[in-house]
Amino acid sequence: MYQLKHNFSLKSNNTFGISAIAKHYLTVDSVEDLIQFFRENNAEKNEKRLFLGAGSNLLFVTDFEGIVIHPEMDGIDLISQNEDIAVIEAGAGVVWDYFVDWCVGNGFGGVENLSLIPGNVGAVPVQNIGAYGIEAESVIAEVKGIDMDTLESKSFNHDECKFGYRTSVFKELLKERFMVTSVVFHLSKHPEFHLEYGALEAEVSKLGGQTLQNIRKAVISIRKSKLPDPSKVGNAGSFFKNPVVSEAVGRALKNSYPDIPVYPAGPGLVKLAAGWLIENAGWKGRSVGKSAVHDKQALVIINKGGATGEEIFELSGMVVKDVLQKFNIELEREVLVIGN
Ligand SMILES: Cc1cc2nc3c(=O)[nH]c(=O)nc-3n(C[C@H](O)[C@H](O)[C@H](O)COP(=O)(O)OP(=O)(O)OC[C@H]3O[C@@H](n4cnc5c(N)ncnc54)[C@H](O)[C@@H]3O)c2cc1C
Repeated sequence: MYQLKHNFSLKSNNTFGISAIAKHYLTVDSVEDLIQFFRENNAEKNEKRLFLGAGSNLLFVTDFEGIVIHPEMDGIDLISQNEDIAVIEAGAGVVWDYFVDWCVGNGFGGVENLSLIPGNVGAVPVQNIGAYGIEAESVIAEVKGIDMDTLESKSFNHDECKFGYRTSVFKELLKERFMVTSVVFHLSKHPEFHLEYGALEAEVSKLGGQTLQNIRKAVISIRKSKLPDPSKVGNAGSFFKNPVVSEAVGRALKNSYPDIPVYPAGPGLVKLAAGWLIENAGWKGRSVGKSAVHDKQALVIINKGGATGEEIFELSGMVVKDVLQKFNIELEREVLVIGN
C-alpha cells in the first residue's frame, strides 16, 4: 500500500521538531508498491528525493521542495540458523530499538550495545550506527533495496556497503538514489560481550552479571542518564562526528592540552572527542536564540522550543568556527542538513 500527501508538515517526523513542509510525502509499505507508484507517476519520479526514516539524524533548514519517501516495510524474519549464527532479515520500517529488543529476547547477540538508538532499520546501514564500542557493520551481512533511478531491486553484500565511521556507500555515492528496503543481519548465538567502553562494565555487574538482557538494560540506563529524550527536548543525538586526525596532530594537542582524550583509530590515526573540544571551546550549555548546546553533553545541540532549523544551523556554525580557532580542528556535522 502507498499513500501520497502534499504540502505535508514534517514537524512530528524529525526529532529536532522543526516545522518544515514537504512538497510531496509518500509512505509505502512494500517493494512492489514502491516500484508501481514510481512507474505510474513519472512527475514524482523526477522530483528531488529524500528518504526519511524517523528523522532522528536530520536538520531541516528549509522546506523540502521535492518528494520525501518514508519506507514502512515491516517484519522481522528468522531466515536460517545453525549452531552459531542466526540470519535475520528486518524491514526498513521496523523501529531499530524494537529490533534490538527482539534479538536480545531471542538470545541473539551483537546489537545489545546499540540499544535505544532512535530511528528505523532502513537508516542503520546508511549511517553505520554505533555506540559503546560497536558499529552496526559488525552484524550487517546484506542490504536490500531499490535503485530509484532505474527502479531495479539490488542487494549489497557487507564489503560492497563500504562502511566507515557513521557512513557507507548509501550515504555517499548512492545518496538519495538507493532506498534501503530491508537489512539482513548475522547475529551470534554465543556472543562475545563488549563492555570495555565507559561505565558499561560497572553498570552490568550492578545488574547481576554479563547477559544480553543486562547489557541492554545497562546501556538503556546509561543513555537515559546522559542524553536528552527527543520526545521531550528536540535534538538529533551527536550533532558532530568525533574528528579522526593523524597521530602527530593528536600528540601535538596532547602536549598543549594534557587532559584531551585521544583514542587509537587505526594505523597512524587517532580519534578526538568532539564533545571535549566543544566544551573546552566554551560552548557547553550556551544558547543562541531558542537553540543551545546541551548542558550535560556538549556534542548534542537542542531545540529549547520553537527554534528554527536556520537558528540551529547558525549555532552549529559558531561552534565549528570557535573549535577551529582554538584547536585548529574542523568539526564535521554528523546530522544531514537539508536545505543549506
Ligand atoms: C537522542 C539521540 C541519540 C542518538 N544516538 C546515536 C548513537 O548512539 N549512535 C548513532 O550512530 N546514532 C545516534 N543517533 C542518530 C540516529 O539515531 C541514527 O543516525 C539513526 O540511524 C537515524 O535513523 P532514522 O530512521 O531516524 O534516519 P533519518 O534521520 O530519517 O535519516 C538519516 C539518513 O539516512 C537516510 N535514510 C533513512 N532511511 C533510509 C532508507 N530506508 N534508505 C536509504 N536512506 C535512508 C536519510 O536520507 C538520511 O540521510 C541518535 C539520535 C538521537 C536523537
